[in-house]
Amino acid sequence: MTRIFSGVKPTGHLTLGNHLGAVRQWVETDQHRGDAIFCVVDLHALTVEHDPARVRRLSRQAATLLLAAGLDPERCTLFVQSHVDEHTRLAYILECTATDGEMRRMIQYKEKAARERAVGGGVRLSLLTYPVLMAADILAYGADEVPVGEDQAQHVELTRDLAARFNQRYGHTFTVPRAVLPTVAARVMDLQDPTSKMGKSHAETSGIVYLLDEAEVVRKKIMRAVTDSGSEVVYDREAQPGVANLLEILAACRGDACKPADLAANYSSYGALKKDTADAVVELLRPVRERHAELCADPGHVDEVLRAGAERARGLARPTVDDAYRAIGL
Ligand code: ADP
Repeated sequence: MTRIFSGVKPTGHLTLGNHLGAVRQWVETDQHRGDAIFCVVDLHALTVEHDPARVRRLSRQAATLLLAAGLDPERCTLFVQSHVDEHTRLAYILECTATDGEMRRMIQYKEKAARERAVGGGVRLSLLTYPVLMAADILAYGADEVPVGEDQAQHVELTRDLAARFNQRYGHTFTVPRAVLPTVAARVMDLQDPTSKMGKSHAETSGIVYLLDEAEVVRKKIMRAVTDSGSEVVYDREAQPGVANLLEILAACRGDACKPADLAANYSSYGALKKDTADAVVELLRPVRERHAELCADPGHVDEVLRAGAERARGLARPTVDDAYRAIGL
């Protein structure tokens, strides 16, 4: 059975980008077709300035939202990264096979380090080594596939390199995984700045739609989305990034077979496109918000899911991590 692994960082409230780029595939496809393991990767939230109470709260909220979005604990494993020590055990071993040059080439590192420097903060060493911990997250479970948005593709590529290098140098230990990107909405852009990704770790703005936004808030944000100076609706990510983003969001909401370029032909005005996009997003998020409220009323259930998930994850990861320790000479 295909082993599938993916995760989400509790660095902010989950966004429409996280949902369309990753979570929806986990819910609709991955948990039904493979042995799927999903993780709230809280250790990754410590790589930049953080508030301890907020990280704890957001971890819990992320797990609750993943269940609300439709992850079924009977069909998949859901847990919190820091509950399973194997991740950090393996990360150190992988650090001993990776180079600092490889880490410094990562686009996310460059962007985030520049942001930290701009506000006068130091760049935490863990920000540099973050992709190695991510590689450990994936390799510990022998994952074949990693369903992610486009922004994580480079990190999965690095994971492949590290796995192949380890296997070659120390004997076959790891499955070499591959990234699986959604066909549309692999990179949902900020509604107010369609040249930058809709990111939950960014400061909250009206360009970001959160899964828990009220319907009216979602509508307002989408109706006020920045569009382009032309008036024709065409799908062109370079020349018309704002309109292309709305078309991608709408196509993703409508389902797999729907192509953003085909949708463009149905619209003669930006207003009509925005209205249909807003309606589609509101309908997509409504059940998630409703189930989230129900789950919040039953915190014991979420605790139990995470406890059982961590126990299963530990059992799966330990033999692989033990093998890696032996192979490298410990
Ligand atoms: P963020 O960058 O919002 O903090 P994470 O790093 O926690 O998100 O990513 C969780 C998943 O959501 C990853 O698979 C990532 O590729 C995906 N993702 C994040 N932002 C977007 C986006 N704007 N569009 C598509 N997918 C995204």
